[in-house]
Amino acid sequence: MTKEKLGPVRLRVAPSPTGDPHVGTAYMSLFNLAFTRKEGGQFILRIEDTDRARFRADSEQQVFDTLHWLGFHWDEGPDIGGPMAPYRQSERLDTYAPYAARLLADGHAYYCWCSTERLAQMREEQQKNKQPTGYDRLCYGKTREERAALPGFTETPVVRMLIPDDVELTFEDLIRGTVSAPRPDDQVVVKADGFPTYHLAVVVDDHEMAITHVVRGEEWISSTPKHLLLYKWLGLEAPKFAHMPLLRNLDKSKISKRKNPAARLTWFQEQGYLPEALGNFLALLAYPPRQDAEGNDVEVFTFEEFKDDFDWRKVNPVGPIFDLKKLDWLNGVYIRDLEIGDFAHRLLPFLTKDGVLGDNPSLGELARLRSVAELIQTRIVTLAEATPLVAPFFVADQALEIADDARAGLGDDAPRVLDAALESLGALDDTGTGVLGSESGWNAPAIEAALRSALIDGLGIKAKLAFGPPRTAVSGARISPPLFESMEILGKHSTIARLRRLREDLA
Ligand code: GLU
Repeated sequence: MTKEKLGPVRLRVAPSPTGDPHVGTAYMSLFNLAFTRKEGGQFILRIEDTDRARFRADSEQQVFDTLHWLGFHWDEGPDIGGPMAPYRQSERLDTYAPYAARLLADGHAYYCWCSTERLAQMREEQQKNKQPTGYDRLCYGKTREERAALPGFTETPVVRMLIPDDVELTFEDLIRGTVSAPRPDDQVVVKADGFPTYHLAVVVDDHEMAITHVVRGEEWISSTPKHLLLYKWLGLEAPKFAHMPLLRNLDKSKISKRKNPAARLTWFQEQGYLPEALGNFLALLAYPPRQDAEGNDVEVFTFEEFKDDFDWRKVNPVGPIFDLKKLDWLNGVYIRDLEIGDFAHRLLPFLTKDGVLGDNPSLGELARLRSVAELIQTRIVTLAEATPLVAPFFVADQALEIADDARAGLGDDAPRVLDAALESLGALDDTGTGVLGSESGWNAPAIEAALRSALIDGLGIKAKLAFGPPRTAVSGARISPPLFESMEILGKHSTIARLRRLREDLA
């Protein structure tokens, strides 16, 4: 691709591979992508891996996997290459050196040999004397020899920006309008190990990759004046900026992976949230609902709908509360909306992991799963919740475990209820497959009619109490998918065997 072929906008997300991908990476990617796809440009994934102390080798692959899982696909990135490769900062180290050299040569930056101990001591004294903290420029204007003669010297210098007194502290933000940031310190741009800091690398990379819009978290607002200085000093055109509101916990604190499991993207996969529900949720965190023709709020929308009328000015700059109840609601909506085969298919990895099904389920098992899936589609909020509801359908009758609370809730009538259920169901014909909606054969309506007549009419027991013991017998639990449909799926043989097993247990 030549420069001429680049799109009208080029945006990037730039996660650091420091562990499980943060939910903020997905959130930033979504807003970056919406604008990119609306404008018809390129979305770039860049891995900012220059912080070697916090680097984790498997983290990059997790970033790829979780973003792809969400359906967020990039046009250029370390895994697929692109015209501005490489897309990993650690592979771009040669790129930064000339820029740093130019800053030094032009007097916009200087070497600093202060040891970490000296810097810590300096900060401590500034705090004690209630002075503003910041580098005191001890090294500025000194040669190595001059500086070496003073205390607190180290052999390997860093490079610092020389922030001028008249540094411009305001800038235009696409979401926030005119923003003011505090005066920056003499920021380190090259570390003692020779690696650029984020500040130099981000400016150089965004320039070299022809990024037009920098969309990132609001925690970077205070860095933007430094970045704008670097653009100016290096004679580069600055991109536009949009600082997204930070995601917050219910107590308004910043979402962190240490304190909130839901800060980890993999957590949503493990819980069985659908990627489309999570994407919708992330959009709603900072963006208003859509309006239908009558002007009503519509909170459920696809990425296509989201991007079609995307506008930075609609992004709410106030840090959204990360309320998982909303996600639960959305997930339920999306689950109920799935075509049944798709739904069953999405349950498979959870059922395999939980040992309900093996790695290669048989066609018979898949057919049964599809039937069970129909029974539970409206009953679960996350895919992981399916396991206890599905498991009883895939366990041998003699191996079904009866949960303690189910056993304890059986009541004194249980033996005679089970006897009556066994007798009435035993009389049902199961030679045909049963016709849906008919009351003969082994099907839910016939089972229901038989049990109602035997237990409610015959024994005079209320429905609520009458169906408890058979439910426990076939599912092992107090709460199960609909009873009659469950019995239909299990078949007569299993149903009778399970009823008998519990009855014998109670003898
Ligand atoms: N590596 C930075 C982060 O992880 C990127 C910030 C930016 O987008 O400029 O937040």
